[in-house]
Formats: sequence, structure tokens, C-alpha cells
Amino acid sequence: MEFNTQLLHGSNSFDEKTGATQVPIFQAAAFHYESAEQLEQAFSGSGQGYVYTRIGNPSVHTFERRITSLEKGIGAVSCSSGMAAISLAVLNLLEQGDELVASSGIFSGSYALFKSLSDFGITARFTPDVREESFAELITAKTKLIFIESIGNPKMDVPDIKALAGLAHSHQIPLIVDNTVTSPYLVRPLEQGADIVVHSTSKIINGSGNSIGGVIIDKGRFQWSEEKFPKLFKLKKAHSFFAYLAKLRSGLYRDLGACQAPFNAYLNCLGLETLGLRLDRICSNALALARFLSQHPQVQWVNYPGLSENPYHHIASEQFSGKYGILLTFGVGSKERAYNVINSLKYAYNLANIGDVRTLVIHPASTIYANQSPEERLEAGVPEDMIRVSVGIEDIEDLINDFDQALAG
Ligand SMILES: *Cc1c(COP(=O)(O)O)cnc(C)c1O
Repeated sequence: MEFNTQLLHGSNSFDEKTGATQVPIFQAAAFHYESAEQLEQAFSGSGQGYVYTRIGNPSVHTFERRITSLEKGIGAVSCSSGMAAISLAVLNLLEQGDELVASSGIFSGSYALFKSLSDFGITARFTPDVREESFAELITAKTKLIFIESIGNPKMDVPDIKALAGLAHSHQIPLIVDNTVTSPYLVRPLEQGADIVVHSTSKIINGSGNSIGGVIIDKGRFQWSEEKFPKLFKLKKAHSFFAYLAKLRSGLYRDLGACQAPFNAYLNCLGLETLGLRLDRICSNALALARFLSQHPQVQWVNYPGLSENPYHHIASEQFSGKYGILLTFGVGSKERAYNVINSLKYAYNLANIGDVRTLVIHPASTIYANQSPEERLEAGVPEDMIRVSVGIEDIEDLINDFDQALAG
């Protein structure tokens, strides 16, 4: 079954009890059992069934099964937001004294989260770029994971997933990939050697910007060593390939309570149905808009991996099967000019989100990156004159005309 068919006819494509073509929304906090013995069994996890929606819910579970099969994992855990998913994915592996290595071009929220882990005795080291050597230099005996984004948001750098998986594995540590910006339609990081994938489902998976959510998908193949991951090593006996997911579900996922709402899981299932269709359109619009902007006299620079002169064009072509993503950034010389362009656009919404069917723009330096130092902003690839565009599904003629008139203003 090809990808777009799988979106509609893959796992759990309709409700077996009723035949409903959409996922039933089990908007309930808890689940009743006939006997005390049955509830005891459900609690222990040995029986089938749900107990309490913070721990598990059938609507949420359906979304988890669908995204698991699209990302080629063995299981998934849905969360209340992308940040909850990233927090849980890394904290399931880290203890006081541990370290992680991430690239500096990642989403500002992830960067801030990793920095604040120092309050808990966990050190994050950030590479200046996505070269394998830069990651290798920062790995120590205490490093427990490498974290990257499939395309850095907003730096637009494209790491070589296969190479970094190889590097991680040579140090007996897993590679975690945030696949929010590309989705499983463009790349399945687990197939490229990564061990764990995370998403902010608030973006492309949902597609219409109607709810916040996140998800963690595990490949289940990583060999947790006794030396580096003693707890996971122990769990392998009872849970085999599911050790990571078992530790998460019976640990921090349950205890921190960052579960996904059943209604949001339904919206995410609905969004998934059109993932391929939307991305075909968005990626082709993004390439056309990037080409237009790169020829425009008022535009100083354009950063989009789809442009043949882009330094990541080659690796992006190899990794993302001929599509280059939903985001592009461009510079117009100054913050004032950037504001002028944003204020003159008719169609693009000026807001802090990406992955919507609508075209969205933002001035990152004064918003998402306002709390970071000028040095941190530069390292993150956020100059003062930069506009980030999350391209939508509008007709490309309208988008180009809109940017053209805004740049002329
Ligand atoms: C938005 C985003 C997140 C955070 O997700 P939320 O759902 O907003 O918590 C993480 N990573 C990337 C790449 C994002 O774009």
C-alpha cells in the first residue's frame, strides 16, 4: 500500500463496532468495569482495557496506531503538546549527571527546555552546525542521546540522519529526531536509522491549526546497554523491544500527566487523512515562492533547501524524496523592512505557528527569539531582517502576487 492510500486504508481506518468512518471520540475521564477483579486486572495492565484517560484512551490510541504505522515504529505515546512529547522523550532517558547533544538550529522551545534541564543536573551541549564532526566533538562518556530536527526550524539546516544515527550508535546512545517540519510523508527517520521520533502534531499532522498536541514514536530496536541505561536494560527482560515505551507509560507519562485530549486525537486523525495531498501542494508552492523571492531585487537572501544553490540541497534531495518542506526564510535587509513586508501582506497570517493550510509569516527575532541573546539568535540562524514563511495551500499566483506587492511597498 502506498503512502496516501495508507492514510485512508491503513491501520484502524474505521470503527469496527459501528462502521463509523471517523474515529469515535471517547470523551470520558474513566472506564467502568463490572467487577472489582476486572478493574484490578485493568490496573495491573494484564487485562485488556482502559482505566483513566491520563493513562490511555481509545481515541488517543487510534491516533497512536496510525502514526506508528506511518513512521514505521512499534508503538507511540501521544502527548498534550510537542513540548510535552520532547520533554518526555528525553527525560525517559536522562538522569542527574547525564548530558545530551543537540544542534543549535532547533526550535526555540526545545533549545530553552534543554538549557533549563541544567536545573536538574542535566547538561545540554549544542553544536554550531549539523556536521557529524560537530556532534562527535561534544559527545562524552556521560552523553545519553543526540537530538536533531529533520529540518532545523528556523535555521533550515538539514542533518544527515543516517550519518548521525551511525555516530550515535557507535557511542551506544540513541538518536532522537523531531520530524515536525517534514512529517512521515517526506521522511521516516526510523527507516534512516534513528531510534525515536517526536512530533508537534499541532503543525503539519493536524494541518489546520485547530489543536495543540505531540507524539513520541519508538522504533523498538535500540540495544539498551546495562552500562549506559541500566533501568531500560532491566526492563528488556519483561518488555523486550517495548522497554522504552513501557518505562515511559508506567513512569513519567503517567506521572507528569501530559496526555493528549481525545478530541484532539480525533482532529489529528482527521488531519492525517489529507497529509500527503496538503504536503504535495505546500511543497510545490514553497519551491515556487522560494524561486520567486530569490529573483526579487528587494530580497537579500532566501533560505530554502529546495533551491539548487542551497548548501543543504543535496542532502535534502536524498533524504526527502524530492520535496523540501513547508518552511522558508528570507531577509529584506532590516527589521523595519521586514515589518513593512509583514504588515503589507494580504493573505499571510502574522502568527506563531507553522504547518497550517494557510500561509503564515512571523518575524522570529522580535517574537519567538525575543528572550534570547543576540549571540544565541545568530547561532540559531535568526538575523534581524529575517521573515519566516510557513507556506499554505493557496493558489500560487495569489501568493506570489501578494509577496510581490508587499515587497514593493
Ligand atoms: C512547534 C514545534 C515544537 C513544539 O510543539 P508544541 O506543540 O507547540 O508544543 C517542537 N518542535 C518543532 C520543530 C516545532 O515546530
